[in-house]
Amino acid sequence: MVVALPDTSSPAHKEFSIPSAYQTAIAQYNRATEHLNIDDNVIEFLRYPRREFTVNFPVRRDNGKFEMFTGYRVHHNTILGPSKGGIRYSTAVTLDEMRALAMWMTWKCALVNIPFGGAKGGVVVNPKELSQPELERLTRRYASELIPLISPHSDIPAPDMGTNERVMAWIMDTYSMTVGYSVPAIVTGKPIIIGGSQGRTEATGRGVIITMIEALKQFGHRDRAETTLVIQGFGNVGSNAALYAHELGFKVIGVSDVFGGIYNPNGLNIPAVRDFARNNGSVADYPDGDPVSNADLLTLPCDVLIPAAMEGQITAANAPHIRTRMIVEGANGPTTPDADDILNDRGVLVVPDILANAGGVVVSYFEWVQDIQAFSWDKDEVFRQLERILVRAYDETTHVAEKQRVDLRMAAQMTAIMRVAEAMQIRGFYP
Ligand code: NAD
Repeated sequence: MVVALPDTSSPAHKEFSIPSAYQTAIAQYNRATEHLNIDDNVIEFLRYPRREFTVNFPVRRDNGKFEMFTGYRVHHNTILGPSKGGIRYSTAVTLDEMRALAMWMTWKCALVNIPFGGAKGGVVVNPKELSQPELERLTRRYASELIPLISPHSDIPAPDMGTNERVMAWIMDTYSMTVGYSVPAIVTGKPIIIGGSQGRTEATGRGVIITMIEALKQFGHRDRAETTLVIQGFGNVGSNAALYAHELGFKVIGVSDVFGGIYNPNGLNIPAVRDFARNNGSVADYPDGDPVSNADLLTLPCDVLIPAAMEGQITAANAPHIRTRMIVEGANGPTTPDADDILNDRGVLVVPDILANAGGVVVSYFEWVQDIQAFSWDKDEVFRQLERILVRAYDETTHVAEKQRVDLRMAAQMTAIMRVAEAMQIRGFYP
């Protein structure tokens, strides 16, 4: 017997209750597999995470006292290769959230055709409440607890919400000190000086804009300077998407972070917003724009809305009020299944997370390859290969969407699930 999966049948749209990320991931999987002609045994197998790891561990605070923390690592699937997935530091981290994010990683890697399975990890912590030495002790202890699970050939972590290249460097060092030699390929998204890749920091945000440009082609030619973007979240994904869009001449009219947002219908000077956020810790009080709450930001009139913060932001409650032609999902799981239905009925094009934000894992794959070969590529080469892979994945997804008469999320999930299922059938069930 396996434990029960979440109930996805609750009428969330009637109550405006927001499904959890795992309910969303399972509901999407159920929808996609209804359209697929694959063996029921494989469908059932892929519905479950392969491994789930929970660890409770002590961290010495600066005042000398010890505090217990809980961390997770979930491997959803390793049929196509070693599992790959970020590490999140947030007080909202749960085992269910890790299961959802690990499953989405499996589909994302399969969709862009890179030889990885899906994983995700996290620690229940607000990293902003820890000093730098406390954060380092927490990271090193969590990393050492993960050692039975991770290696360059089995599971390769990367940054996600609340973690960054600094955290990746501590994980790389902890692993290397344990095995006795330097192992750059143990994590991706680390500083370039210790084996990180050119372009990894910008990769996810850049990929969001590459897929947006492909999607905009469906609406015919429009001057970039007249094409308006609103972006929720100004961290790694949101800020890099905003900067690249600005550099290409698009008009970014609204951005936000956890503290609030700013809106200027004439367009924001994004490099100046980035500098302001660096100096003040938030975009919220940027002077050349009007303040706007995160809730109101999502319903601003714009051509493209980019949720780039977290799950469950576009729901049945706000989907009817969203005033955009297109949503490009920088975050994982920002749109609930009920909201998807409403947006589809309203003719809003949604470029799904597993396609739109895949740029990060694509360049993580390049980083892993470079580390294993001990050979580094220049930035132009990284960006050229990134664009090639994302445009191909976008074309393949739209081809399936047109042929099967389904939306892009369904097409992306179907394409990815078919690939993993095919590999599963060729490898066979062990033993
Ligand atoms: P980050 O920690 O660098 O930034 C997160 C941003 O969201 C911050 O600006 C934060 O203030 C904001 N935020 C947090 N809670 C919010 C809330 N309730 N309302 C509005 N804004 C809020 O994280 P990131 O790496 O940019 O990741 C953002 C999303 O993109 C996550 O869903 C993550 O899983 C996904 N993602 C990240 C990568 C990557 O390479 N970093 C790759 C693929 C997907």
